[in-house]
Amino acid sequence: MLYPIMHAVGSTVYFMLFLLFLCARLVPRTNPGITCWAFAALAACCARMAMLLLPTETDAASGLLWYGVFIALEKLLLLLGAFRFFGAVLLPGGPMVTDRWLYTAVVLLLGWIAAYGTLLLPRVAYDIGLAAFNALALLLLASTVYRSRIRLPLWLRRAFVSVVLLLALHWSLIVPLYIWLLPDWRQQGFAFGTVLAMLQYLLLLTAVIMLFCRRLTESEAKALELAYQDPLTGLSNKRYVDVLFGQALQLANRPHQALAVFYIDLDKFKPINDSAGHKTGDIVLQEVARRLKASLRSTDICARIGGDEFVVIATQIEQEQYVQEIAAKLLKQLQQPVEIDGQSYELGASIGVSLHPRHGQELAELLEKADSAMYQVKQQGRNGYRLYTGEERRR
Ligand code: GH3
Ligand code: MG
Repeated sequence: MLYPIMHAVGSTVYFMLFLLFLCARLVPRTNPGITCWAFAALAACCARMAMLLLPTETDAASGLLWYGVFIALEKLLLLLGAFRFFGAVLLPGGPMVTDRWLYTAVVLLLGWIAAYGTLLLPRVAYDIGLAAFNALALLLLASTVYRSRIRLPLWLRRAFVSVVLLLALHWSLIVPLYIWLLPDWRQQGFAFGTVLAMLQYLLLLTAVIMLFCRRLTESEAKALELAYQDPLTGLSNKRYVDVLFGQALQLANRPHQALAVFYIDLDKFKPINDSAGHKTGDIVLQEVARRLKASLRSTDICARIGGDEFVVIATQIEQEQYVQEIAAKLLKQLQQPVEIDGQSYELGASIGVSLHPRHGQELAELLEKADSAMYQVKQQGRNGYRLYTGEERRR
């Protein structure tokens, strides 16, 4: 009575696994190995159906033969999928196990099963052949996953390899243990193997889902980076300054602390572009970004908002004198010549500063005021800094 229940439950679960793998395959750009695993689960389902629906009592009964054929197909598809998903395995001596090796092994096994079907071989030879094939296929599967370079959590890799090795051990013990020594335990042995095989498929499905989730978070991070980063300097871009400014305001909960917005425009940058080329200009901009970042605290905000225009927002300003100190420090950094390929390029900057909350609440207003202070510095001969006073001339 146990066998029919086991085969009915087994085939249902395998069929559901088949559908789950097919669903996973619907996700665009998934690894083709998943399709192989879907059909491996279907082959396992067919093997159980053969045992459930076809006769198995007599020697070389059709149920036994079809069971062997579907199990051979299942292992073939399982390994083909693993080679595609995890990468083919190198044996200790160096040779790469190719698909052709697998096809050859399966053809040999099918020949073996056919020989048993025509009663050229006894039942024990059929059992030994099928068990040896399964045990070797599972060892190869464990080795493929163990040596794979795919970044999977260690627990998952260990769990999968352990389950598959147990399953390989189970197959290698079938003849000596469950057939010769403990024939009364054959049904329990079959149930044990079925549970392990299902676990193996569930762990594969977990690997598929985990890789999919990782791909999703990585592409999300990449999209955010593209949306919020200046590709040339790696600094934040104009769009992100708004977000960061909002966050800085939320953290600035002490009433006596201010935020300072520094609007920086490089002096005479265009002549570098014109004389040494755009590429050299780009390197100068990257060096400026590096120097700005190096002069700031990690909580400060640094962004490139235009060609040679940068914005720095310094947080937790306790006294106005700090603003002068920061501006002087930034200016000093930007006044150092930039060395590129043995050539020295003179640099300078005009910096305008506005303060939150004194000069406004919104970033747009603060930027506008810092910009007009910067413009005033340009008008007065460049290479300096100025805190917004309200007396600046409009552009
Ligand atoms: P000023 O002293 O008045 O600020 O003049 P400037 O020479 O610094 O030139 P300005 O600020 O008016 O213009 C900035 C120049 O930066 C204009 C443009 O050719 C150049 N530029 C804009 N984006 C890039 C870029 O991504 N790479 C490079 N190399 N140059 C850029
Ligand atoms: Mg400029």
